[in-house]
Amino acid sequence: MTDRQRRFREKYVSEISPWYSGLLHVGVMYAAGISAIVWCVSRMQGATWEWLLILPVAIAGNFVEWGMHKFVMHRLVDVFALRAIYDRHTRQHHQYFTDGDPTIGTVKEFRIVLFPWRVLMVLAVAGGGLGWLTAQFLGPNAGYVVFITMISHYMVYETFHFCCHVPENSIVRQLPLVNTIRRHHAAHHNMGIMMHVNMNLTFPVADWAMKTSDLKRGLLGHLFNGYDESHLKDELKPVMARFRSAETQEKRVTLDGPKLEADELRALQQAGSHA
Ligand SMILES: [Zn+2]
Ligand SMILES: [Zn+2]
Repeated sequence: MTDRQRRFREKYVSEISPWYSGLLHVGVMYAAGISAIVWCVSRMQGATWEWLLILPVAIAGNFVEWGMHKFVMHRLVDVFALRAIYDRHTRQHHQYFTDGDPTIGTVKEFRIVLFPWRVLMVLAVAGGGLGWLTAQFLGPNAGYVVFITMISHYMVYETFHFCCHVPENSIVRQLPLVNTIRRHHAAHHNMGIMMHVNMNLTFPVADWAMKTSDLKRGLLGHLFNGYDESHLKDELKPVMARFRSAETQEKRVTLDGPKLEADELRALQQAGSHA
């Protein structure tokens, strides 16, 4: 861990309220999400084809996740709630974790990993609205499936992202898809490429489709890549290596991301021009 990162961590942890409970934070999130899903399933009657809606809704959700991360969490939009999301992600989460040290060691640090509860509430309202709208056209079962998919997506997001930031262990290393996102997201935390590359946090589908991945390989290869680094895009390697050094971080990384030079921006552009 570099000094820069250590200083940020010490300050951040010292400012966490003594009332904060990491277990309560994660417990309420799962309890609320699972209860909402169970309630929906209990209301459904004789659903058949409606379950197929999971696929298009989940794929659309994957692109929304990518877009939110790229254009809200990493671009300062100076409007009340959007600014808060940017602050929490770029100015805090990304200072706390780098690809040099992307892990937590205590339950108290859950605070820097998980979204606040209000995000789940906003999603429940949005999911409720979209579910209601779907129900008007395709019937109530279809509406419930849309809502269930959106809430499930959120919980997969939180679970996968959490797995990205826990210390290395045999479960996260061996579990397919989880090991993929763990490497994918650790690379995203590299301070040189964090504003541009690896924006998915569940399955790297949109990153593959939009060419914002650090890997050069097909969709299936992307999904089941695991920890493999042999497909890394060559253009990105020197930029990533440079921003791992303490000296570059001290000189050229701000709370709003790296100050990139022309050759580095060109490398990122080139990396983005092929999948
Ligand atoms: Zn992260
Ligand atoms: Zn990010």
